[in-house]
Amino acid sequence: MMSNDYRIQVYGHEWAQQMLRLARQRHATRHAYLFLGPEHIGKTTLARAFAQALTCENPEGEMGLGACGRCRSCRLAAEGMHPDHRFFAPTGNQLVIEQIREVVREASRSPIESRFKVFIITSFERANVNAANALLKTLEEPSATTRIILVSHQPSGLLDTIISRCQLLRLRPLPEKVIITALQERAGLSEQDALRLARLSNGRLGTALALANDSDAWQTYNERITKMLTILDASTAERMAIAQAMEKEGHLETTLQEWLLWWRDVLMVQNHNAPLVINQDHLSELGQLAERIPQSQVRRFIEAMMATSGYLRRNVNRQLALEALLLKAPIGG
Ligand SMILES: [Zn+2]
Repeated sequence: MMSNDYRIQVYGHEWAQQMLRLARQRHATRHAYLFLGPEHIGKTTLARAFAQALTCENPEGEMGLGACGRCRSCRLAAEGMHPDHRFFAPTGNQLVIEQIREVVREASRSPIESRFKVFIITSFERANVNAANALLKTLEEPSATTRIILVSHQPSGLLDTIISRCQLLRLRPLPEKVIITALQERAGLSEQDALRLARLSNGRLGTALALANDSDAWQTYNERITKMLTILDASTAERMAIAQAMEKEGHLETTLQEWLLWWRDVLMVQNHNAPLVINQDHLSELGQLAERIPQSQVRRFIEAMMATSGYLRRNVNRQLALEALLLKAPIGG
């Protein structure tokens, strides 16, 4: 990227980029969007890039979302300093009504210097019912110069009345080769290292970049793996307590995905396919598990994790689903 190119780069999601670019070119953007998809796949980056394109002074081109990347507005957008871009995220655990009231108040005012005023509200599933309801009227009767982008990874936390007033874009995890390219470009990784992190992150670029750039992310990852290993030796009561704590902590989908890949690795070792193991730096622990736990139990637990991932995407009692899963975890022996 040239140093004077301030375009906010989006990896993958080409169909969504094209759809949003065409809508902008045809002056047919909707007043409210909902970007829905798993955690860490670039939903907020896409929202920021769309906001940049909406306020660009010389939108152009057939690439990305069509922001020029050179005007003052694009530079401010890239720096997160654009006066017509407003970001809202949960404070603590919730999006509260005061935040939504601020959105409503500001949405009724004209943009300061651009054609549009763009609001990006992340983790919208954490808006409580009062807060979500407070936004309904603004979504129904928007000002012509206001664009609102809601971002969420959990459809079960959203009111139908909100979803029906937005254009819904369902975003998916990114293909492995997109992640590999991004890791090489953004983090300077070798192809082999990039491949490993791409597998481990399972289509979630944010996770892959965090693991590449941030030693804390590795530590968190290793802690979650360690926690899973303690479950094997835990009693029924202890497993219930762990399930409860995990549900409170959140990031269940991410955690389950990591566990799934871990147990897939155990299966790989059991089947003498160690070169295909993703967690190459944990080969000795994987080897011990491969010896201790019968393969039939490993397979059963993998199936249970896949089923639980499916339940979590639907509207289930998350804690019950998790408790049931932990009771099915192999016993360490
Ligand atoms: Zn521009």
